[in-house]
Amino acid sequence: MTVIIDGNKIAQEVRHSVRKEALDFKEKTGIVPGLAVILVGEDPASQVYVGRKAKACAEVGFLSREYKLSADTSEAKLLNIIDELNADQVIHGILVQLPLPKHIHTDKIIAAIDPQKDVDGFHPYNVGGLVSGNPLFVPCTPRGIMELISRTGIELSGKEAVVVGRSNIVGKPMALLLLAQHATVTICHSRTKDLPAVTRRADVLIAAVGKPHMIKANMVKEGAVVIDVGVNRLENGKLAGDVAFDEVAAKASFITPVPGGVGPMTIAMLMKNTLDAARMII
Ligand code: NDP
Repeated sequence: MTVIIDGNKIAQEVRHSVRKEALDFKEKTGIVPGLAVILVGEDPASQVYVGRKAKACAEVGFLSREYKLSADTSEAKLLNIIDELNADQVIHGILVQLPLPKHIHTDKIIAAIDPQKDVDGFHPYNVGGLVSGNPLFVPCTPRGIMELISRTGIELSGKEAVVVGRSNIVGKPMALLLLAQHATVTICHSRTKDLPAVTRRADVLIAAVGKPHMIKANMVKEGAVVIDVGVNRLENGKLAGDVAFDEVAAKASFITPVPGGVGPMTIAMLMKNTLDAARMII
């Protein structure tokens, strides 16, 4: 029987334990974890994500500060704000919501964040740490997927894992985390030849492409664990994953739905990373 992994439930459990740990931490140290989120421009999806982050902070008892800047904000101004936040004692995590407007160099902005406050795990210091096996922070979405996998009791050692997508925020860090857990990992992308032949080898298949329903049943091995990272808005306004859920669920052993799978875990892990950041200063 296929198990549908309930990301909402697991994310709620994570938030509960973060809230409890944050209360204990505050009792012992007097420190309340603080997260600053910077949004540049009016992208509607980004506005929704930033709102959810503030709500999650309130739920776990963190201080949250939002910076909503106009789309024409200069790179220099954004760098100034980051400098101030790097020095701000009550802020332990800094997150710049991506994508940024075209006139701002994303790499320059990420590199300006103090790696000890880089709760998104995108700073080159943390990327290097992930490659060498000792990061301060791991990007929230792949960290959330690892949490889903481990809480579901799925063993990764020796398994064939295939990640479709090679972005810096999902595909690449995902592959490194699976490798660290001793899976044999293949990364696919838009130039991969005969994608179905590769994905059919997967005991664990991670789809992080951004193309609705592109992973069909004929691309999946019987009994595979299928994790769907995709969030795609359809013409009818509904959300769809990268996986054709019904047909793939009929073959998979475990599968995540969209919505309610990976998505809620991303914000829960942001809370975990922010608590870790606060702990790092003592
Ligand atoms: P990107 O657009 O940065 O990367 C997409 C990747 O998919 C690229 O590596 C691209 O290959 C690859 N790709 C595109 N078309 C194909 C194809 N036909 N066959 C194989 N590979 C292909 O996306 P992200 O990694 O940022 O996001 C992926 C999805 O995950 C999106 O739907 C996004 O909304 C969602 N997402 C969800 C999150 C959550 O919290 N649930 C968080 C972050 C993202 P190439 O490199 O060759 O171009």
